[in-house]
Amino acid sequence: RARRQSGGHIAFFESSMGDIARKRFDIERELRLAIAKGELRLYLQHQVDTQGQVCALEALVRWAHPVRGLVPPGEFITVAEESGLIIALDNWVLTAACQALAQLAAAGCPISIAVNVSPKHFAQDDFVDTILATLEREGASPNRLLLEITEGLLLDKFDEARAKMAALSEAGIRFSIDDFGTGYSSLAYLKQLPIHELKIDQSFVRNLPGDKNDGALVDTIISIARHLGLAIVAEGVETKAQQHFLAERGDLTLQGYLFARPMPAQAVIDALVHIPAQHA
Ligand code: C2E
Ligand code: MG
Ligand code: MG
Ligand code: MG
Repeated sequence: RARRQSGGHIAFFESSMGDIARKRFDIERELRLAIAKGELRLYLQHQVDTQGQVCALEALVRWAHPVRGLVPPGEFITVAEESGLIIALDNWVLTAACQALAQLAAAGCPISIAVNVSPKHFAQDDFVDTILATLEREGASPNRLLLEITEGLLLDKFDEARAKMAALSEAGIRFSIDDFGTGYSSLAYLKQLPIHELKIDQSFVRNLPGDKNDGALVDTIISIARHLGLAIVAEGVETKAQQHFLAERGDLTLQGYLFARPMPAQAVIDALVHIPAQHA
């Protein structure tokens, strides 16, 4: 039975039978076909500076399902991850993001795009080659690509992870730690890896400025980032009060519905290209 979620989406895969294995199998089969049929869509969400100017974009995938409409990743990323389909999905998004970068660069808009990388994708032996080959094939600059990874991905095979990050970093690609502060890893990795940016998880932003504990955690994350010379993005900014709290902390990048929802890539590109003042 369909159930309403907080985001207003229908959780159409939720089954009242509780037959989880069956449900997963159905999503997996449908998703495999969807990737082949070209049903994935690239959405882009603005990241803005404290002046409200767009300074970067995050690539967020959507599934344009012929019957169920636009499906958000929360409904299929876990199954994609468990089935290995995430590698094809991530590669599709990477290619689309690189095409967007090439289009933006051709129009003289030097903006970066952050792409989410799943642990399984990152763990592939050919991960580094795939990223570099895709950039090259699509004519996109490595200097405009950020890869968003999560702390969990660093938990095993740390030396391998470090070698991959070093190789990509040398090519000009930057790394961002997504959902920072929600993982279980030690902080030691921050000084051992070529990391450009920390993204403060939206769970810490949600109850600002009222929640003193969340405020303290946000201040602590900002302090860690500043001491290590890392850039900071706060995600999930929905209210003026949250924006104000964060803007008072100085130079941060903000991302959230207050500024823009994720929107179809082409619409975002067209708007940026036609309003030069926004990215001057
Ligand atoms: P994430 O990378 O942490 O992305 C941020 C999520 O927060 C996105 O959800 C975005 O739409 C949402 N968001 C942005 N601003 C606000 C706000 O003001 N309030 C609230 N409540 N939410 C906001 P989305 O697009 O549903 O994606 C969910 C997660 O799915 C992402 O979290 C990411 O972990 C994963 N994902 C999305 N696209 C990809 C992809 O191409 N590859 C992989 N591996 N994972 C992806
Ligand atoms: Mg992300
Ligand atoms: Mg995040
Ligand atoms: Mg998140």
